[in-house]
Order: sequence, then structure tokens, then C-alpha cells
Amino acid sequence: MAEAYDPGNIFAKILRGEIPSHRVYEDDAVVAFMDVMPQGTGHTLVVPKAPSRNMLDADPATLGPLFAVVQKVAVAVKKAFNADGVTLMQFNEPASGQTVYHLHVHVIPRFEDVPLKPHSGQMEKPEALAENAGKIRAALAG
Ligand code: 5GP
Repeated sequence: MAEAYDPGNIFAKILRGEIPSHRVYEDDAVVAFMDVMPQGTGHTLVVPKAPSRNMLDADPATLGPLFAVVQKVAVAVKKAFNADGVTLMQFNEPASGQTVYHLHVHVIPRFEDVPLKPHSGQMEKPEALAENAGKIRAALAG
């Protein structure tokens, strides 16, 4: 049996504004903010506001709006960092590598011959996150 959603998870706190984040996008259904332990420059997380642990228990109605924003953010990060490509990642339950139990999609700009850094590795400096968030916001604005 699937575990229950825990409203005390870190992304739920970010969504409620109890913990700061470098937000790049928000609408009625979805928020996007910088990953604090980026696997590459511009690593962004796209998160639906509706509570679910992951794809396994999500309401299908949340997925359309979520992936519409994933696409927007993917296009924006590619432009913002002049990237060669974009990796999308999404994990479900601990065996898959999931560490935060509120559905989210990783959007990571990629550059030829630059490998991804480790998952949940080193904390990035807040100034660097703020600068990268500014570039993504500008790209989203057109
Ligand atoms: P998961 O393994 O669940 O797919 O990924 C969770 C992601 O959340 C990791 O990439 C990790 O670096 C990131 N993360 C963990 N704690 C925080 C936090 O407090 N703020 C932000 N912005 N990202 C976080």
C-alpha cells in the first residue's frame, strides 16, 4: 500500500512560503524554483501545488498543467544558459532515488561533454541561485 502524503515535506513548506526559495515561475496550479543542490547550472524544479507524493498517486488532472510548465521552463533554461540540451528527471519512491515526497520534475540544462553532478550533492551559494533564477525569469518573460 502506498504511503500517505506528508504535508510537512520540504516542498509543501516552500509552496506555503514557510521556507524561502528562488522562484522563477508561478501560476494557479504550478510553481518552479531553483534546486538548492543543482546537478548542473540552472537546475530547476517544477512542482504542482496539488498534494501528491509522486506520479504514482497524482491526480491525472494535475499532469497536463504540470507538464505544460515543464515545457515552458525547459525552453527557458535552454535559452537562459545557451544550453545544448535539457534533461528532465522525475523519481517515484526511495528505490528510484526520490528524496522529497511531493511530486516534482527536474529540469536541467545540459552542455556537450559536461556530466551531471551527483543527485542531492553540494549546496549552491544563494547568490548563484539568485543570479540563475534571474536569467530564467528573463527568458520566461521572452
Ligand atoms: P528527488 O530526489 O526527490 O527527486 O529530488 C529532490 C530535490 O530537491 C534534490 O535535487 C534536492 O537537491 C532538492 N532539494 C532538497 N531540499 C531542498 C530545499 O530545501 N530547497 C530546494 N529548492 N531544493 C531542495
